[in-house]
Amino acid sequence: MKSRPAPSSDGSDQSDRSDAAASARPKVAGIVDGQTISHLRRERGDADERAQAPLSFALIRRLLRFTGPYRRTMIGLFITVALRGIQLPVLAWGVGAIINGPVARGDLGQLFWSVAAFTAFALFTELTFRYRIKWALEIGEAVIHDLRSAMFRHWLGLTMGYFNRQPVGRLISRLTGDAENVRVGVQNVLFVSLVSIGQMLGCAVLMAVEDWRLFLLVLGIAPIIWGLNLYFRKRLSQAYRSQSDSFSRITATMAESVSGIRVTQSFSRERVNADHFRALVEDHARYNYTAARLGGTFLPLLDLNGQLFMALLVVVGGGHVLAAEAPMTLGSMVQFFFLAGLFFSPITILGNMFNEALTAMAGAERVFSILDTAPEWTDPPDAIVPDHLAGHVELRDVGFSYQAGRPVLHGVSFTAAAGQCVAIVGATGSGKSTVAGLIAKFYLPESGAVLIDGHDTRTLSSPWLHAHLGIVPQQNHLFAGTIYENIRIVKPGATREDVRAALAKLDCLETIESIPEGLDAEVGERGSALSLGQRQLICFARAMIADPRILILDEATSAIDPLTEARTQKAMRLLMAGRTSFVLAHRLSTLRHADWVVVMGDGKVVEQGEPGELIAGGGAFAELWGRAVG
Ligand code: ATP
Ligand code: MG
Repeated sequence: MKSRPAPSSDGSDQSDRSDAAASARPKVAGIVDGQTISHLRRERGDADERAQAPLSFALIRRLLRFTGPYRRTMIGLFITVALRGIQLPVLAWGVGAIINGPVARGDLGQLFWSVAAFTAFALFTELTFRYRIKWALEIGEAVIHDLRSAMFRHWLGLTMGYFNRQPVGRLISRLTGDAENVRVGVQNVLFVSLVSIGQMLGCAVLMAVEDWRLFLLVLGIAPIIWGLNLYFRKRLSQAYRSQSDSFSRITATMAESVSGIRVTQSFSRERVNADHFRALVEDHARYNYTAARLGGTFLPLLDLNGQLFMALLVVVGGGHVLAAEAPMTLGSMVQFFFLAGLFFSPITILGNMFNEALTAMAGAERVFSILDTAPEWTDPPDAIVPDHLAGHVELRDVGFSYQAGRPVLHGVSFTAAAGQCVAIVGATGSGKSTVAGLIAKFYLPESGAVLIDGHDTRTLSSPWLHAHLGIVPQQNHLFAGTIYENIRIVKPGATREDVRAALAKLDCLETIESIPEGLDAEVGERGSALSLGQRQLICFARAMIADPRILILDEATSAIDPLTEARTQKAMRLLMAGRTSFVLAHRLSTLRHADWVVVMGDGKVVEQGEPGELIAGGGAFAELWGRAVG
């Protein structure tokens, strides 16, 4: 049973250079088969992305605009490029001139001076080369640095809807693989191509002057080498792409299997997974083999071609040297040999550069498409920045959908007076987290309005609102670093004492300090080194130190033990004291302390009221309550 993914039929099997990074994202189960792979590819969004794009002058102009701030380096670079284009042909010509001149005449004194001049020029050539490389690297690095920062800054300004639609892997590959391809393009393609073309032209002129008949011979051979190059280059780049693509499938599978190892082992899927993995590795080996075979044919062919050509030159050139009338000098023949070599060597390089240019174009296209993505909405220019937030929140007939035509909320209305605690309950998928996102202005309502202290959130300044609003999301997020860093992240100026004070206010300082290394304990990847309860307390402390007027707690669904639950409940109550707070509750114990309960079902408010009233009323909530309390 083979579960190898078929490379796409048009041969344009796409690859993102950054696959390894992109696919490091953990996925649920370690189950790998053809379907999972195609799913993986779909999710990373690379199925519809091309690896190369045609040269576009608009794109090139836009890229060059990024070199604007480095004009002086650019000017230096172009000077070295121009110099490099003529230096090598001149050196080759110099060898012949020395042979034809002082060597032929047997003039030792002049020979010495010519060789000295030649050496000096050679040194100058290498010095130019050094700066050519240095400045090109500097420009490439600077441009890519600016591009990456621009992309990242741009992302931070985009709205939540964008991130819902874009898989993380795809965003990562924009920042890594695509940006990297652009860097190579900026650093190499233009300058190396110009040098190569200059070198070829220089050699062509010198050869034509030296012996135009031999030069015609050279011109006749050039298309053969170019054609050979084109033929193999295309196949080789396809082979390399398949190679890196299959390798990325291996790393993705590896990452997936490791993060899903519990599922794998508990369902005894080790054998199946190992078989799938072996199939992937075999597949990869085959692509390696193809690439090696192509390379192994191409290089010797190129070599053979060069040698045959040299032999031909020796025969024809030798004929000219031996000719009775106007014989060619030996020095000229040597000169010609050097020039011919220099004329041919850039052909392969130019082919390579062309290839890199196309890849860079595709990268640039995607990078710029990010920079061109406008946020779905922005604050109005005259956004209101009140100088005080009391914390009165009202949802008025709010309707909302994540995707057009699939409404998630319908006519949701409720009010939280300043300082009140409102519990929102309801079955999974009923729209609780969505309501939280609307209050936090992560999204704007489609109909109706969310009013904060009487201001429609559409008219309020988002930074101002976010400065006064704290949200502890359902999947609480810890950043890599220590507990201390994770807590003070919302308030960069906070000291160790502030952090300890926040924990003390939540009555959980001891709990956190009893963890080995206490505040300085590393939280591990996404908090993996901590228990769920500990993670939650850290998120609470983070909210505490930010001291928001409005607080939203999206309770995690996962079950925790009664002791942790009691502690969490207490910390929660301490955190909510004195703020308008919304608790998206799964646990009924949370509800006891709420001032108001909103029961949601299918995106609508089913009923709302004070907890006592609702229980007495015998509605949906009373039923829920009755079942839970028994
Ligand atoms: P839970 O109790 O499981 O947390 P919830 O009440 O918080 O559920 P929401 O997360 O608000 O539910 O989801 C409400 C509906 O919106 C669900 O049907 C869900 O599938 C849909 N939904 C949520 N987030 C998105 C999203 N980013 N894109 C599209 N649909 C979404
Ligand atoms: Mg939710």
